Amino acid sequence: MPSKLLDALLLAMPLSPTLESWRQHLINHLNYPVQGAQSLFIGDPVLVIVSFQHGQAEVLLPAMEWRHHDMQTTKPTSQGVVDGNTGTLEQLLALVEEGIALRLKSFHECSHCGKRCAPEELGSLMGDPTCRTCLKGRRVLF
Ligand SMILES: [Zn+2]
Repeated sequence: MPSKLLDALLLAMPLSPTLESWRQHLINHLNYPVQGAQSLFIGDPVLVIVSFQHGQAEVLLPAMEWRHHDMQTTKPTSQGVVDGNTGTLEQLLALVEEGIALRLKSFHECSHCGKRCAPEELGSLMGDPTCRTCLKGRRVLF
């Protein structure tokens, strides 16, 4: 068999029925926008990532930093893993909720417009946390 075809088959391999049903549940029943396929990016900005692979679902907290007007993605931190055979959807949902709560706690208010922003969306203007939109406005003004 040509190796390219084998690659395609491996990539197209479906998740186990359990993992696939968990994935569908997350896509359809969360009050947040969800993007992605094998890895789900939940929320906008991303609050939590759920990665489906190796027969398990892993919940990850995104770690992004905004430095020098550039978004930097650092390694996400794992919140926990639920095994597709021994775990339950309830365990996965609990991890997702925990992750979202933790992530929201890291949000700060922009000292200029008051919008609550993800840490990577905030810069600083004379020592005050300031969102990207406000910073951009400043740069145009001065
Ligand atoms: Zn602002």
